[in-house]
Amino acid sequence: MPAQKSHANARGGCFIPNWYMNPRPAVLQIESDVQAAQSATRGILAAPTKLRAASAPDLRSRANTVAAIAAAHAAAVDADSRFPHEAIAAARAERLLGVAVPRELGGEGSSIAEVVDLCYALGRACASTAMIFAMHQTKLACLVRHGGAWHQLLLRRLANEQMLLASSTTEGQGGGDLRNSAAPIVRDGSRVALERQATVISYGRDADAVVTTARRSADAASSDQVLAVFLKEDYTLEPLVGWDAFGMRGTCSEGFKLVATGSSEQILPAAYDKIHAHTVMPLAHLFWSAAWAGIAAAAADRARAFVRHAAQRAGGTLPPAAAHLTRAAASLRTLRALIASALQRFEAAASDPAALEAINFQTGMNLLKVNASELAVATVMSAMQTCGLSGYRNDGEFSLGRHLRDILSSPIMISNDRILANVAAASLLAGAPDSLID
Ligand SMILES: Cc1cc2nc3c(=O)[nH]c(=O)nc-3n(C[C@H](O)[C@H](O)[C@H](O)COP(=O)(O)OP(=O)(O)OC[C@H]3O[C@@H](n4cnc5c(N)ncnc54)[C@H](O)[C@@H]3O)c2cc1C
Repeated sequence: MPAQKSHANARGGCFIPNWYMNPRPAVLQIESDVQAAQSATRGILAAPTKLRAASAPDLRSRANTVAAIAAAHAAAVDADSRFPHEAIAAARAERLLGVAVPRELGGEGSSIAEVVDLCYALGRACASTAMIFAMHQTKLACLVRHGGAWHQLLLRRLANEQMLLASSTTEGQGGGDLRNSAAPIVRDGSRVALERQATVISYGRDADAVVTTARRSADAASSDQVLAVFLKEDYTLEPLVGWDAFGMRGTCSEGFKLVATGSSEQILPAAYDKIHAHTVMPLAHLFWSAAWAGIAAAAADRARAFVRHAAQRAGGTLPPAAAHLTRAAASLRTLRALIASALQRFEAAASDPAALEAINFQTGMNLLKVNASELAVATVMSAMQTCGLSGYRNDGEFSLGRHLRDILSSPIMISNDRILANVAAASLLAGAPDSLID
């Protein structure tokens, strides 16, 4: 690979490539990338002929196309608890899976804000599709912001083939404790192996690669973790537990014994604690929150349609339940503002490791997840109260059962209780700000 200038963090050695910070470099270095790709390890092949034109002013209309297909199949995906094949195929066709890959690696260099908006658009259509997209984009951002040469080649391939990345952090009985791993990376020369009880891997069967946490080595502490990427041909998945869940049924979040081998280059060079603080936590919370806001918006839309319908039948008089619609609209408005301000905060800190690691930033991005999930649940509940029995039924145009079941995953997807307990100490440290404009 061509030498990349980077911004290194004197405190933690955080590697943020220049091409992430400035996604419009003057010179594309495709030729040398291709040469590097030809000598690269196992199957990571560059395909410059399929590089997409850089500009993507049509992102919104492409998102709408995918969302329409996702919406058309959302009920069947939920009923059958199946992967949303049609929506993900459409996302591939519209090249949405690789939008955030930097342009010089064949992607479109889409911003975090654009990805957030895509999660929201998909959430309005099909919660499972949106969550799959959100999880994929979180992993992709890890590769962009922290990957080494191998991962840059993978990003090129991902942009070309629109590969889908899955995530494995939950292990054994550890629940949402992302910052500890049990299974270690076992090294044999330049080869690595990993065998882990991956209790939950959403869309594990349909992904093209798994991005997984692991203990650095057999003699490392459980919190001394790395992040590694294994391609589909690198691993086997032995089913441990199925996925017959209350909601988010299309995420197919089954449990597997993951047995993987690969090259040591597949491990990201940065330590996982940095990757987690700089990228995984803030971006997962932003992308998830956007997906949940989409579900909440869809529920509020149904409630609005119900009130219009009821008012029409009553000769223009609003039904008493219209007050619940107002509540749904109000909490949705607060939710959107919360995400927008967190997004601004991330964008301001994105290339500054010290700012990303600041307690205030970490606490704020952690609480984003707690607050966003609570607001999203409140919005869907208010929508349900608006529609009454028409919302409670599974068979009408105002049915909200799926939205409610899907949104109830939000407080448990990394338990809000766990997050609140984790930030308790930080809450003691910082007093209330002196200014409202902070
Ligand atoms: C839709 C969906 C998709 C998912 N996809 C993936 C995936 O692709 N890959 C992956 O690795 N994982 C995935 N997960 C799992 C997720 O990351 C968490 O691991 C999981 O939601 C935590 O589950 P848990 O409630 O069993 O565990 P825990 O976090 O252990 O929580 C169990 C109970 O203990 C309580 N609790 C935990 N800690 C505390 C504390 N400190 N203080 C007070 N109470 C506490 C919680 O409130 C909860 O009631 C997914 C989860 C969902 C819902």
